[in-house]
Amino acid sequence: MTPEEKKRREFIKKATGLGILGVVSAGGIALAPDFKPKEKRLRPPGAVPEKNYLSLCIKCGQCLQVCPYDCIKLEDIEGKAGFGTAYIVPEERGCYLCKAFPCILACPTGALDHEDDSIDKVHMGVAIVKRPNACLALKNEKVPRSAIDRIYDHTKILSKKEREEKKVVIEPNDPEKYVLQKKVLEKLEKFEGQDCTICADMCPFIPDPSLAIGMVDHKTGKLPEIRKACVGCGACVELCPTNVLEVVPRATYKEIYGEG
Ligand code: SF4
Ligand code: SF4
Ligand code: SF4
Repeated sequence: MTPEEKKRREFIKKATGLGILGVVSAGGIALAPDFKPKEKRLRPPGAVPEKNYLSLCIKCGQCLQVCPYDCIKLEDIEGKAGFGTAYIVPEERGCYLCKAFPCILACPTGALDHEDDSIDKVHMGVAIVKRPNACLALKNEKVPRSAIDRIYDHTKILSKKEREEKKVVIEPNDPEKYVLQKKVLEKLEKFEGQDCTICADMCPFIPDPSLAIGMVDHKTGKLPEIRKACVGCGACVELCPTNVLEVVPRATYKEIYGEG
């Protein structure tokens, strides 16, 4: 373990030790008391700074149409920020960091910056462990069936049969987006009745998710630890069974964790 990792780990231990009591009242271990999220919405990968984004996004929906995970939405008139602009609600569907970033390639105006064509250039925000005391791993509870069923319920491409039977079948003629979304469910199935490491094991950061998130020991069990490479895609937020994690849009690791 590097000295930096050691320091970070101490920080988590201290924060959760203040306990999980302090956490609830303070609203989350990773939110410094005076930390204020800069933006209301999580934008798709490659989004230019918010002010430019609001003027460059022409509400065409091209990014949304090419997203194989169906995670991009367009703001409606009563939305939080910029009528018609593209955004992601990670609790409903996170971004899975497609290798070639089709959303960025499809954007005709550069609201999603075409220079951001690889994972090392993309930064959407940073995940935080907002409700540690709800974490199944901390409580040594196994992953219940309902935690997996809820992802079937909001995966739009499934047939009625697949949704009802909670079982996916990858057909030879399935479009690529069906295959990708079904593979998420297939992978998730393996966690039923097991110790929960969903957030760490399903993180799509490549080449090595452990650079973005990992499970660390805590006195009563384990907790996820967010690491420097986290890009704030929100896949962990969607998949966590107990709503432990959040993404702070456009925040940097340094702003949240004070280092890096
Ligand atoms: S990287 Fe892929 S999953 Fe993420 S928003 Fe773009 S198209 Fe969708
Ligand atoms: S920890 Fe991984 S899954 Fe979670 S927001 Fe960061 S990069 Fe995405
Ligand atoms: S997904 Fe991660 S944060 Fe959520 S309950 Fe499981 S181990 Fe805890």
